[in-house]
Amino acid sequence: MSEISVSPNPALSTQEVVDLTRRLNYGTWRYQRDWNPLHIADAEGCYIIDGNGKRYLDLSAQLMCVNLGHKNPVVVESIAEQARRLPYIAPGHTTEVRAQLSRMLLDVMPEGLTKFFFATSGTEANEAAFKIARLSTGKSKIISRYRSYHGATMASMGATGDPRRWPAEPSVKGQGFLFAPEVNCYKCPIKHTYPQCGIACADYLEHMIENESDVAAVIVEPVVGTNGVLVPPAEYLPKLLEICRRHNVLLIADEVMSGWGRTGSWFAVDNWGVKPDILVTAKGITSAYVPLGVCATTAKVAAHFDDHLFAHGHTYEAHPITLYPAIATIQEMQRLDLVNRARSMGEYLGPKLRALKDRHPSIGEVRGLGLFWAVELVKDHVSKAPLNTRQEKMDGKPLVVDRVAADMMKRGVSVVAWISHFVIAPPLIVEKADLDFAVEVLDASLSIADEAVAG
Ligand code: PMP
Repeated sequence: MSEISVSPNPALSTQEVVDLTRRLNYGTWRYQRDWNPLHIADAEGCYIIDGNGKRYLDLSAQLMCVNLGHKNPVVVESIAEQARRLPYIAPGHTTEVRAQLSRMLLDVMPEGLTKFFFATSGTEANEAAFKIARLSTGKSKIISRYRSYHGATMASMGATGDPRRWPAEPSVKGQGFLFAPEVNCYKCPIKHTYPQCGIACADYLEHMIENESDVAAVIVEPVVGTNGVLVPPAEYLPKLLEICRRHNVLLIADEVMSGWGRTGSWFAVDNWGVKPDILVTAKGITSAYVPLGVCATTAKVAAHFDDHLFAHGHTYEAHPITLYPAIATIQEMQRLDLVNRARSMGEYLGPKLRALKDRHPSIGEVRGLGLFWAVELVKDHVSKAPLNTRQEKMDGKPLVVDRVAADMMKRGVSVVAWISHFVIAPPLIVEKADLDFAVEVLDASLSIADEAVAG
């Protein structure tokens, strides 16, 4: 074998890595002037390690992806093994890994989802879902919700309610996406109070369906992710499914982030026994070691394409190197009993996070499920106004959450901060001692937010 020209040893200093990256790459979802990326040289278990050897507890599992923790040796080996065996074959052919993974998905996915399309990201899997929903129903509109994120391409961005859509408008408009209010019992967008509301937010959605012709599907993150880990009340998703069924509208569950044990169930919909028509997932399916997304549908949805063209496909669809690591990931999750572990660790973490609220006036609400939590910061407890606004985020203004997150980094904890909340979602292998450390650091760093509130 000829010598590989990429040096296996670090050939660049940390400063060079950062400088070259900043100069030659785009930093996502930020003003470029503010981008000062941390050079990560290594990672193991629940920790990431920077170019100077400093270790950080990974409290977000890198965008809520690395559920198995970093560098799981079985999954790492599966990548190498598949690369040696058969790195690529066009998706019109098939491979054993494709058949094996599909059969495994039947066991772990909510009942009724029996046909799979393999893509390479959550975004792509959502694009497939939209096309499948539209083609199979012959209808065009899709209802999403304001606090949502569904992807970065034109249609998935069009379906995204959060302000990341704003700079892309008006070009993502006109793709048939409509927005309903999110479910948020802490700060209800339609000013109701649970449980007296009778889940009025679902009724609102029904009102939209009844007043719009041509609705193909409703898409929801069953537990909203980046936009604040909004856990719906138990009645919401069953009621929404019932509304969708009654109006002959498909329910798409976007479980890109909430799937794969994150909420203490294989999929978030399992918490309420909801069986969607289409489920989209990615991230945790391979712990993000390789890029894989899946769009899963019922046989009923799939049946349409027996006699109609399935007008979709990608070069990297069902890419063997993405599929074998998914098999390894599922097997590792089962061996380590990670779904149950997420639930029990969540029961340990939740009360500790909730207790912080008593000590920090800046905390409005702490909510979550499994190992999926949000700490939301507010200006005051009456108005519940966010400490920073979405507009401030989009204008590139300095945000309090980012200052808190920077302070946590100094203390050795890496966390995701978004507008006015933190998302806390460590790898599912996390230990109690790690969680204790995380809460201790969050507790210390939140004094910055408390000071901001005090003005
Ligand atoms: N849907 C949800 C709920 C997500 O959280 C994300 C990514 N954060 C996406 C879709 C898009 O996935 P990707 O970034 O893999 O394209």
